[in-house]
Amino acid sequence: MHPRPSLWHWGAGKLSSKAMTTNMKCNLTVRLAPRNAFIEYNKVWDMHFSPSAHVHWLPDKFNLSKAKVTVNVVPGGSYSSYDYMGDQLLRWQEERKQPKVPTRAFGQSDHQKSNRSLAMSSNPPLLSQILANAVCVSNKASAIVREIMASGQLGVVEKTGLDDLQTKADRSAQDCIVSSLKANFPGLAVIGEEGDELHGDVPAEWIVKDQDPRALQMGTPESVLKAKLEDFTIWVDPLDGTKEYTEGFLDHVTVLVGIAVKDKAVAGVINQPFYNYQYPELPQGRTLFGIDGVGVHGIERVLPPKDARIVTTSRSHGTGLINDCTQACEPSEVIRVGGAGHKVLLLIEGRAHAYVFPSPGTKKWDTCAPQAILHALGGKLTDIHGAEFKYHKDVGRVNDWGTLATSVAEEHQDYLSRIPQDMRDQVKDYFKNKKK
Ligand code: AMP
Ligand code: MG
Ligand code: MG
Repeated sequence: MHPRPSLWHWGAGKLSSKAMTTNMKCNLTVRLAPRNAFIEYNKVWDMHFSPSAHVHWLPDKFNLSKAKVTVNVVPGGSYSSYDYMGDQLLRWQEERKQPKVPTRAFGQSDHQKSNRSLAMSSNPPLLSQILANAVCVSNKASAIVREIMASGQLGVVEKTGLDDLQTKADRSAQDCIVSSLKANFPGLAVIGEEGDELHGDVPAEWIVKDQDPRALQMGTPESVLKAKLEDFTIWVDPLDGTKEYTEGFLDHVTVLVGIAVKDKAVAGVINQPFYNYQYPELPQGRTLFGIDGVGVHGIERVLPPKDARIVTTSRSHGTGLINDCTQACEPSEVIRVGGAGHKVLLLIEGRAHAYVFPSPGTKKWDTCAPQAILHALGGKLTDIHGAEFKYHKDVGRVNDWGTLATSVAEEHQDYLSRIPQDMRDQVKDYFKNKKK
């Protein structure tokens, strides 16, 4: 194992480590809490390491005691990675061959590393090609979502009621995503939340043909290596968190593109168009994508605190049953925010332990991409009984039995078992029974 740097300390604008060993090359990533704010400070030390590093820009609004520091030790062709919170070591990854992709953006859970065989090919498998295009398409859709917000003309209509809105951004982003994927992969089944028809003329610049090179280079699980076009179903939520979009909770908004092969969610893209919107000086928006069993680019998994039980649930679609089930989980804190994609991001970033949503409200386009990415990073998402969702194109759109997800797969059963059976049994017909 490489020598481990330890005991990180924050002083005014200064980060230092007491026990850093000399003669090693390090990449340092500093991640500042709270909220989504993110500074990446990269510094490479070489042979002459000085045991302190100066971080040049530390705005007052960040809580430095919660800063996360990642150190990648990179001598020769291998690396070790260490995550610290203050002076506490959160996580380390063993020495291994340095991947071709940037280490900070590549996550992979241990059980997946060990038991799935991967294949790389000079002619990328269909899964990689679809994912690589979906990444670029989501970036365009995200830009459209931002432009429409900037124009102030949201064009809001009610679909089934006040709780179920659609804006010009939902319509335009969907037209961009569906038209692009269908143009690039003729015959591909693409199912979007906003229906089967286009909502207007599609400008030529909305048809995105590019493919993200990192996605193209990702390995493919053996099980989907030979998948044919007709085996794929793409689940598109062009704007998840519409209610929050109309109310200005912009970081709750995501663009979701889930990729299923037969009935399994295998890959996905979560694009967060307004990431960092409260901090205009930082880069705006982010795109995460991944393949279950392979890894994830664009985000780093953080484990949630050990001594807490933070539950996240809906902000705008709450019910009595949701409150009861949430309380049954004995939460130390409840975070009510919008968007299925956004809540799964909270799990990945260690800001919540469980996403509890015992309501037939989410649909397959809400869960496909978040599930694939969460599973790729060692979490677990199922319905409220613990059953896996199916994602083939003929499946029912509604997740009748709600959603239960945990940041750590091994903790899923614990949350499940605390919700009494009689509460779980009410989920599917909750709205019907309320009307009676
Ligand atoms: P939320 O956590 O409330 O943002 O919901 C996550 C996703 O499920 C969003 O796409 C919502 O639009 C959808 N959703 C949840 N509950 C309902 C509901 N009662 N009616 C319509 N859509 C819902
Ligand atoms: Mg949605
Ligand atoms: Mg939506």
